[in-house]
Amino acid sequence: MDYVKNEVKLRRELHQIPELGWGEFCTTAKILETIEPLGWKTYAGVEQVGLDAVMGRPEDFVEKSKQRALEEGVDPKLIERMHGYTGTIAELDTGKPGPVTGLRFDIDCVGVEETDLKDHLPNKENFRSRHAGVMHSCGHDGHTAVGLTMAQWIVDHKDQLCGKIKLIFQPAEEGVRGGAAQAASGLLDDVNYLLGAHLAMMCPTGEVCVYPEGVLCTTKLDVRFKGRPAHPTMSPHLGRNALACACTCVSELLGMARHGKGIGCINVGMMQAGEGRNVIPVHAQVQLEVRGETAEINDFMVDQANRIVKGTALAYDVEYEVEKVGEAGELNNDPELAAMVTEVAGSLPSCERVVQHKKLGCSEDFTMLATRVKAAGGKSEFFVVGADRTAAHHQREFDFDEKGLETAFGIFKGCVMKLNGI
Ligand SMILES: [Zn+2]
Ligand SMILES: [Zn+2]
Repeated sequence: MDYVKNEVKLRRELHQIPELGWGEFCTTAKILETIEPLGWKTYAGVEQVGLDAVMGRPEDFVEKSKQRALEEGVDPKLIERMHGYTGTIAELDTGKPGPVTGLRFDIDCVGVEETDLKDHLPNKENFRSRHAGVMHSCGHDGHTAVGLTMAQWIVDHKDQLCGKIKLIFQPAEEGVRGGAAQAASGLLDDVNYLLGAHLAMMCPTGEVCVYPEGVLCTTKLDVRFKGRPAHPTMSPHLGRNALACACTCVSELLGMARHGKGIGCINVGMMQAGEGRNVIPVHAQVQLEVRGETAEINDFMVDQANRIVKGTALAYDVEYEVEKVGEAGELNNDPELAAMVTEVAGSLPSCERVVQHKKLGCSEDFTMLATRVKAAGGKSEFFVVGADRTAAHHQREFDFDEKGLETAFGIFKGCVMKLNGI
């Protein structure tokens, strides 16, 4: 089989059915339909998430996504099996003693409408997004295609491998929501080595980076205030103003103290409040995120945010709730695995250069899976596989050089051979 050709074909199929985090029903069905006939044991639905750790998953959105998948002809039996939870963890036991290696691929898309530009490859080659308002503008269609191709390659080379391989098809990476949920499933607790990668980012075609830097810890919070309605002139004393509370809260949040040890950021990205002109506002909601260079700094920011919310709610005598809707931690690559990726990548014809350190500057919830694996004694490595881009990630004109798929496949394949080869 021509694995690289297969990757490109799968990537283009997946590109047409982009789905936002926790709504990846078509994508998950396609994964299950591709790998189950190959002999992979799959965990789907609630089997592959820890329900207490599920974040940022609105039920009405999930329901709509499920309905769309059914309308598009996805097998109702597969939808049933997902119990409303997308993503899957697949396992292949070679039957020979050896290590457990996990490979992680994120599967969700971004909420931007794909460009109409004629030169945009998905338009030219007729594989643009068929879902209005969303597209794979981060490259996760490529990640999933690499994962599915690895599933085939591993089966084809089972005789040369020992131990167990686990493929983690992770939902809801955007907004760093799905990683914690899959980590909490416990299915990765026996993983000795966990590998993950991102295409493109700060690396051009031919380059691979084994220690992406500036990966920020982050916590996403939704805050809801609830006051009491009243007439604004007849009985204002009976009202409790949630809008005024939210305004004060936002000002305080933006001015919170920073940590002396490194970068700490806060952004309040959304505030909605009030019901109408002549009523003391009852409801207000605020969406914010904090980030920190280290877990310590991030925790410091989260603690302050919680205190400010509590304090302003107390001052305005309104009720409040804070919901964590996303989380990512520190990236701590294992030197041994980083050295292995350096060696494997360096031997590939499609890789011209392996760089050790380069600034990535965003957050990744691969870290949630890695933290869990590490807590159980395993090791992890997250690398970036270069690919030229036509625009920045999350832009409408984003497309990546498909040559990156070959390199990514080459690295995963080479690493599995090194870790699980007999
Ligand atoms: Zn992204
Ligand atoms: Zn991404």
